[in-house]
Amino acid sequence: MSFWVIDNIFISTFTICSTALQLCVMSFATIGSISKSIYYRSMVEKNEDGFEYTIKKHKSAKHMRLSVYPTGRVVLTLPYYVPKYAGKKYLEEKKDWVLMHIENYKKKKGNKKELTRTDYLKHREEARKIITERVEYFNQFYNFSYKRISIKDTKTMWGSCSAKGNLNFNYKLLFMTPEHRDYVVVHELCHLKELNHSKCFWDLVRKQVPDMERIKKELRKIDVVLE
Ligand SMILES: [Zn+2]
Repeated sequence: MSFWVIDNIFISTFTICSTALQLCVMSFATIGSISKSIYYRSMVEKNEDGFEYTIKKHKSAKHMRLSVYPTGRVVLTLPYYVPKYAGKKYLEEKKDWVLMHIENYKKKKGNKKELTRTDYLKHREEARKIITERVEYFNQFYNFSYKRISIKDTKTMWGSCSAKGNLNFNYKLLFMTPEHRDYVVVHELCHLKELNHSKCFWDLVRKQVPDMERIKKELRKIDVVLE
C-alpha cells in the first residue's frame, strides 16, 4: 500500500548564502527549533501569484531559506537580522521555482491515495493496539504515569502530550516504519517527564532511541510535526 504520508519524503529547499545558491534537501536544526521558531515569529501571507506562504524569523537561521513541502505548504525562513521586505523580494525572485514545485507535488499527489475518515475509522483500533503495546513496552524503562492514550486523525501532528498526562497519537503511525513509530512513541512518552524540548528531554529520548538524530531527520521530511 502506498500512502502519501510515507511517500512524500522529498522536500525541495532553496538556500541562499553570500557565496552560492544551492538546491538542497531541507535541514532544520531540530524539531525543537521548529517549535521555537513558530513561537518566535510566524505569519501567513499571500503571494500575487496566489500561493500562500508562511514567513518566519528564526534566531539561529544563518541564511534565507525557502521550502516547498509535499502538501504545497511554502515556508520562507529568515535570519533574525533580515527585514521582511528583503525576504519578500527573494521570494518574488524565486516564485517560478516555487510554482514549479507546487505543480510537481500536485501531479505526484494525483497518483496517490488520499486517506479519508473511513480509513481512520477502519484503522483506528489496530493503531491503538500497536501504539499502546509500544507505549507499555518503552514505559517499562521509563516508568512514567500517564492517563489516556488517544488515537486521532490529525493533519499536522504525529503525536502530542498534554500537561494533564494524556498521550495523543496519529493513527497514520500505523503506516510508518516500526523504527519511526517507536521514536514518536518515545518522544511523547518523555514529555510526561519533560514537557519541553530541553537537553534533559533529548537525553531521555536518546536512552531508548540512540539513533534519534537520523530518525528525526527522516521524519522532518514528512510534513507532519511533533509537539
Ligand atoms: Zn515534542
